[in-house]
Amino acid sequence: MSNVVTRFAPSPTGYLHVGGARTALFAWLLARHEGLAGKFLLRIEDTDLARSTEQATVQLLEDLKWLGLHWDNPDSLVYQSKRKNVYNRIIEDLIARDLAYKAYETSSELDALRKAAEREKRTFIYNRPTLTPDQVRQYESENRPHVVRFSMPVKDYSFRDVVLDKDIVLPAGQVQDFVIRKTDGMPTYHFAVVVDDAEMGITHVLRGQEHLLNTINHIALQHALEYPRPTYGHLPIIMNTDGSKMSKRDRDKMIRQRAQTWLKTYKKSPEDIAAAASLAPSRINDWISDNSKQLDLSEQSAIMNVIDLQESDLPEILVHDFRKNGYLPETLLNFLALLGWNPGGNRERMTVDELVQLFTISGIGKGNARFDRAKLLAFNTEALKEAPTDRLVQAMRDFVNANPDSPTSRATDEQLATLIDMKRGIRTLRELDEATRFFFIPDDAIAYDPAAVEKNLNKNNNEGAAFLREIRNILANVADWNAPALEHALQSYCAQRTLNLGKVAQPIRVAITGSTISPPIFQSLEFLARTSTLARIDRCLSLL
Ligand code: GLU
Repeated sequence: MSNVVTRFAPSPTGYLHVGGARTALFAWLLARHEGLAGKFLLRIEDTDLARSTEQATVQLLEDLKWLGLHWDNPDSLVYQSKRKNVYNRIIEDLIARDLAYKAYETSSELDALRKAAEREKRTFIYNRPTLTPDQVRQYESENRPHVVRFSMPVKDYSFRDVVLDKDIVLPAGQVQDFVIRKTDGMPTYHFAVVVDDAEMGITHVLRGQEHLLNTINHIALQHALEYPRPTYGHLPIIMNTDGSKMSKRDRDKMIRQRAQTWLKTYKKSPEDIAAAASLAPSRINDWISDNSKQLDLSEQSAIMNVIDLQESDLPEILVHDFRKNGYLPETLLNFLALLGWNPGGNRERMTVDELVQLFTISGIGKGNARFDRAKLLAFNTEALKEAPTDRLVQAMRDFVNANPDSPTSRATDEQLATLIDMKRGIRTLRELDEATRFFFIPDDAIAYDPAAVEKNLNKNNNEGAAFLREIRNILANVADWNAPALEHALQSYCAQRTLNLGKVAQPIRVAITGSTISPPIFQSLEFLARTSTLARIDRCLSLL
């Protein structure tokens, strides 16, 4: 027998973001803390047929798996869209008992009622209209679209919130009949969540603060349906460090800010951006000047191309963003756990097992949580430093799977292990990828940064290029191609000519990478091997 059954119930209308992941994590930790007496279940709340997508569901499951938040009902995953008949049976029964009724107002009629309330400065409360039997017959005969509303008994409601540690109260005067079935015949969130929490035997519901008052609707329905009431806890809101509420729109906001700067810097107009991005000028004009407008993903990437903004410059919001940018899932979990919870005693870095062992509801705070990106980066840096090479090989493999366009995806596990040891001290796996991807680009596809070429090869009458030509022949004749032998050969060359090693190392670096950044040069040469090294130097010299 399980004593604690928790669930995560995402709506697949978008990808999993940090807020959702934090909710999933807390529900998972609460269940896992109980060991065999705990269960964590997953339910896909896809009753919004227009906004739910299969792709979002697939990505959601993948993101949860990546985080290691495995659910205990893999063979009986609940999809609400497949349970329409179950809900309707219960709704019909409520209608038969006059605990629910069909309501025929159109949305414009409801809007008018709302506006009237606004004009009279009172809160809009829906009142059940009295329909004559004739009216009902007529509506039925003309198949008039309708919703079903729950006839909510008018009385004071209250429930205990175990996170906020207080009673949440709704006075009778604010109670109104809410919709439980939409015109398309699907149940609303309020209805399906109550039925499914009961059928799945959920004992504890942890979810975001935005659902706090929804819970009043839920307890009223539970009472009518004679379901047990789970324990409820609503989690702290997640804020950015600048005090704004963290939101999926933060990425769009950043793109807009950068686009505005770009317009000023280059003295361009929104029409120029639209033309360069092949988008409708009116759409871009609206978006640039109106913070409430949002671009979709393909529009975002078209604009980012125009203003030269990289994916990795945007603030990560989705779990998938963190994966693509090279965070370790165990570090992200550790960080997410601290968004509103702490085990006491300033303890911060914890393994997943420690989180499971230490997690309790009483450790969840009541105030807002702060999403401190610098802290996450520091956690990741430390975790990357401490992790054994084989863990990092596995993590790098996962990173390149999430970034299939990276040349590093061509590396073998053995090569990845060498790169990891060559370049410790990284903050994200993306940094390792960026510093080492040149190894995996074909020799004749290295792109040369003009500034690096100018400074290290052309300057002072092509001094660097002249060194590079001489070194090329030395490298061609080094007997053993390994880092110590290469270092020895170049050190003797420098000693003969009383040169500083940097003077010759930089031209080589530019020739093999196209830039001035690489892991330690001799290890890089060893890794690249003789053939590629010489091919790149020859090509670089021929391009000068
Ligand atoms: N589908 C709801 C959401 O994603 C679930 C809320 C709940 O946990 O009850 O917000």
